[in-house]
Formats: sequence, C-alpha cells, structure tokens
Amino acid sequence: MANQRSQQFSNAISRELTWIAFSFFGFLVLAWLSGAWLEVLLSYLFFYIGRQLLNVYWFERWIRGVPNAVAPTSGFWKELCTLLSHKQRALEKRVDLQNDKSEQFHAAAMALPIAAISLTKHHKIEWFNDAAQALLSIKASDTGRKLETLVRQPEFIQYLKQEAFEKPLILDSFMGQPRAYRCEMFDYYHGHRLLLLEDVHELYHLAQIRKDFVANASHELRTPLTVVNGYLEMMIDMPSQVPAFWVKPLDQMHHQSLRMQAIIEDLLALSRIESDTLMNKVKDVKVDEILKNIEIDIRYLYDDDYEIDFEVEKDLSIKGVEEPLKSVFTNLISNAFRYTLKGGRVTVRWYSDISGAHFEVEDSGIGIASEHLTRLTERFYRVDTARSRENGGTGLGLAIVKHVLERHDSELRIQSQIGKGSVFGCDFTRDNFM
Ligand code: ADP
Repeated sequence: MANQRSQQFSNAISRELTWIAFSFFGFLVLAWLSGAWLEVLLSYLFFYIGRQLLNVYWFERWIRGVPNAVAPTSGFWKELCTLLSHKQRALEKRVDLQNDKSEQFHAAAMALPIAAISLTKHHKIEWFNDAAQALLSIKASDTGRKLETLVRQPEFIQYLKQEAFEKPLILDSFMGQPRAYRCEMFDYYHGHRLLLLEDVHELYHLAQIRKDFVANASHELRTPLTVVNGYLEMMIDMPSQVPAFWVKPLDQMHHQSLRMQAIIEDLLALSRIESDTLMNKVKDVKVDEILKNIEIDIRYLYDDDYEIDFEVEKDLSIKGVEEPLKSVFTNLISNAFRYTLKGGRVTVRWYSDISGAHFEVEDSGIGIASEHLTRLTERFYRVDTARSRENGGTGLGLAIVKHVLERHDSELRIQSQIGKGSVFGCDFTRDNFM
C-alpha cells in the first residue's frame, strides 16, 4: 500500500514536470510569435508562481483544518494531500489502538480482586483500583496525598521507608482488621511504583495452624520419648540382666529412638526459628569464638581421618541471634564431614571484605548433582536417604540453616560438583556488623 502511494506520488511529480515543460514551450512559441520575449517570460513566471502560491494557500488552510477549506486538487498538490490524509488516518488508527490498550489496562487494574495503588517515587497516590478504595477507604480527592498519611501502621511505614522491596511484607493485621495481608511494591514505569495488597489470611492462618501443630506435636512427643530412651539406655547398661536374644533388638531400638529424638529436637528448633519473638534476642555474636569452640569438638572427632583447616578472622562479630547462628555453623560443618569420605579435606572460612562478612565450608566430598541443589533446603529432602540415615541425619539440617539465614537477611549459597566436593556459604552485609 505504501509502495503504491509513493509510486502515485512520483507519477504526480512527473506529470507536474511535464506540465511545466509543455506550458513553458507554449509560452516560448508565444514569445517567438510576438517578439516580446521579456514580457512573455515574466508573465509565464507570474502565472506559474501565482498558481503555486494559490495552492500553498489552500494547502495551508486545509492542513490547519480551517472549516470548509478544500485541499488543492491540481496535480502534485492533490497527490501530496492524499498522501498526508492517508498518513493521518494511519496515525489516528494507532492512537485509537493505543487509547484502547490503555483503557483495557485501566479496566484490568480496576477489576483486579487485589488492591492496587500506583504511587510516585515519593509514595504520593496517583491512581488506585476499586479493591484499594474498599480496603483503604481512599477517595478520588486523596490523589496526590502521601500513602503514609492514610496507612499509619508502623511496620508498613517502616517498609516504605526502608525501600527494600525485593521481599514482600506480611502483616498479620491491617488497618485495624485482624486479617493477614501481603504487601508488594514494584517499580513499573520511569520511577512510578505499583503497590499490591493481597488478603492472604486463609493461607497465613493455615500456615500458622501447621506450625503450631508441628511445634505442639514435637513438644508432646519429647517427654515420652525421653522416658523410653532412658529405659532403653538402662537396659543396655545392664547386659547381664537382659537375655542375649534382646541385645541386638535393644540396640536397634535405642538407635532409632535417638534418631526420633534428634528429629524432634530439629522440629522444635525450626518452630523456635519461625517464632515472631526470635529476633528480639539480637545481640553481638562473636562468630570467631563460636567457631573456635566448634573447631575443638571437630578436631576431637575427626582429626585422625581428615585434613582440617579453620581460617577464621579474629574479632569479627555480627548482629544476630546466637543459638540459631551456632546451629547454622554446626550443621554446615558437620554435613561437610558426614558427606566426605575419610582422607578428605574440609576447610572452614570466616572473613570480611568490603561487602560484609562471609562464612564458607568447603569439602572434597561426594558432591551433589545440580538437579538437587534447589531442593536441598526443603524439609526432609535428601539426595540419598539411606546414606543420610546411616550417618545420623534428620533431613532437617539445611532447612534450619535456610530459615535462620532468612531471619538474618542472608541466604545459603551452594556450589557442588559430583565426586569433587561442595562449598556451602552465606554472606552477611555490613548492616549485620555491630
Ligand atoms: P541430613 O540430615 O540428611 O544431612 P540436611 O538437611 O543437612 O539433612 O541435608 C540435606 C541433604 O543435602 C543431605 O541428605 C545430603 O544429601 C545433602 N548434603 C548436605 N550437605 C552436603 C555436603 N556437604 N556434601 C554432599 N551432600 C550434602
């Protein structure tokens, strides 16, 4: 279509040139016949320029959209106007399409069942959908107001202030209603932000029930199991009182009851880590001293069978909760030995650099195939269940590590190669320093 138009336009220019050539030739003949060369030439120029000026005048009125103005109809001008009309119609179509799209987007945002509010960089309200209007009781006149003046919940204001929007904020009550909401902020267009507030009460409530159930069940099982274990130990300690036939079964029962105890202790540890009050116990954690104590135990257990290196920076502390952090270091270090064959090497590093403090455990062990890496921190996920059970694993160690690190704004990083070994590590930013 565009090619056809430009072809028509070039034809019109050729026609115009032909017209100029013929009319000029006619005037030349007239000049030759009359002998008044100068006068005829001047009248030709006057005639030609006048014709073009008239066309420019019509064209200018037409393009300005003056009412009743008609487009010039002679030769090249006619084609130029047709070409422009086509362009304008195509442009109008595009604008209509654009408008249609933005109306569709607006309607979709309005129909969203979750509250959506568009904010400026400084959290001033730009627009909001019906769900946001219902949830926050905002009115059109609130446009331009800072969101903080409408939602005065301290955790929410802190969330806006900190500008750490990579993670959503879960509020267990919102605007005086006892319902859990998930708040998420996204940058969406040249510094504009979209805040989504989703009612997650059902999910939050179910997760809470699950957590409470696991914590209560573990707690209830702890005492009976301690009693059973105590009796089993007593019987094992008195071999003369036990018929020979029972020695092996008793040993197995004792082994299994110790495993159950370890699982219950880990489940209870997980519930403590998930509890809301955990971070109230933040203090200066002297990681170098913790690692020194772990090193003593480790060397006692493994010095004969492994090459062990502890490269620990002195006096390097972080802000955190001591007990859970201790379990992170213990779990990662003991895993390194449990999954490395005798004769292997384990190196523990604790050091700082410009970005923060870093903990790493490197082993020359069995390694992990890449397809397992993302699932290792799931509860009870094991690459090789038999091997894990055999070496006293509960399948919960890395889940504990993950949750503790999350609560300290860090995360577990794992690099591993089958048959070559693994590096488990975590990083603490400068904010974690005392
Ligand atoms: P477990 O008690 O079974 O060791 P964890 O949660 O500590 O449970 O670890 C989960 C799984 O991750 C383990 O079963 C094991 O397969 C794998 N794993 C953990 N640490 C290592 C390691 N250093 N080398 C190889 N595999 C590991």
